Amino acid sequence: MVDNALSPHGGELIERVLTGEAARQRIQSLPSIPVREPLARECMNIALGFFSPLQGFLNQADLHSVVENMRLASGYIWSVPVVFDISPQQVAELGLRVGDSALLTFQGNPLAVLEVEDIYSYDKEAMARHVYGTTDDAHPGVARTYAYQERFIGGPVTLVNYPTLHQPFADFWYTPTTMRQAVAERGWKRVVAHQTRNVPHAGHEWSMKGAWFASDSDGVLVNAVVGEKKLGDYIDEAILMGQDTVRQAGYFRQNVHMTSMLLWDMRYAGPKEAVFHALVRKNLGCTHHMFGRDHAGVGRYYDTYAAHHIFSELPPLGIEPVLSLEWWYCPVCKGSAYEGLCGHADQKEELSGTLMRRILEGGEEPDPAKFRPEVLTVVRQCASDYGFGSPFVTEQYLANRNPVMSLDPL
Ligand SMILES: [Zn+2]
Repeated sequence: MVDNALSPHGGELIERVLTGEAARQRIQSLPSIPVREPLARECMNIALGFFSPLQGFLNQADLHSVVENMRLASGYIWSVPVVFDISPQQVAELGLRVGDSALLTFQGNPLAVLEVEDIYSYDKEAMARHVYGTTDDAHPGVARTYAYQERFIGGPVTLVNYPTLHQPFADFWYTPTTMRQAVAERGWKRVVAHQTRNVPHAGHEWSMKGAWFASDSDGVLVNAVVGEKKLGDYIDEAILMGQDTVRQAGYFRQNVHMTSMLLWDMRYAGPKEAVFHALVRKNLGCTHHMFGRDHAGVGRYYDTYAAHHIFSELPPLGIEPVLSLEWWYCPVCKGSAYEGLCGHADQKEELSGTLMRRILEGGEEPDPAKFRPEVLTVVRQCASDYGFGSPFVTEQYLANRNPVMSLDPL
């Protein structure tokens, strides 16, 4: 069950894609099911290999094994359920039975074919308790679980219509196959992944630099999560373009840093999501993965360093966790400082979201040792180009933002 670094999880990169006439043939006379955007994203992740070795949405045996043992039925580690939910009424109306196939549509156009291997129900409370460690529906992952409809369909997914990614997203879009090519072109043998949903401040920049040293890596791969947004989050465009500016402005050499994206809706599953992030980045060709404070956590459901501890309980995953403590701004050291090194913890200044907000909303000119001026310029430009004047998600952005992707008729 232990495979080598750079080999995908499960040993084989999954690619389930049909194009052209083969795709048109495959969807002939299939019943169609419109899917919401999160499911569309998951179909792409499955079919393009981000979720290797998953070939489709989990069947009952796999889901049960993931929930109870953090493993697929095959034995491979898998920590976050990837399920296709549907109402019993819809199953009945479509007359869906095991062995059938259905066409999944998005934005009114064909997206993927789902082969019905299994139609089942599952105890959502047990799922929440095991995956999230709580049944409190104030936890966003638990709320998402409770909101699932009452049946799950398990079975393989094949993409039949490849979405068009729009700018600026297209510049940062790599599948496991194209990312592995990009990694090879750069001559990177060791690649450390950085999971983010942030515009980078100097603390983020230094955490990446620290991980590059700690892992003796050739490259840092920023993999920003692009998915459902809440009010007050940074807008996706500012995250991606802000991250890439750190390289463009020379804070990293041009060939040691790269920004990319992952279509994923955060589950905030803390340590379990940390494992999931590691597996996806392994599939993208990374050998190492950064985990700092409170990785993928929310509220007070998980210990600050729960994501550090979980890896010691697992067999080697073929991607090494690079664990770090806090980076802060130290007025004595006069720059970003690391909790494990700086002797002025009593004078630390947290590089907090609140500080960033004051800077971005214009009330405070940034100290370049806290926030790079080039990043600020790009983020302000993104606010104007994409955010209706704000670098943060507003109602207006949610209602009118440029779509990340769209589908043409097949
Ligand atoms: Zn210091």
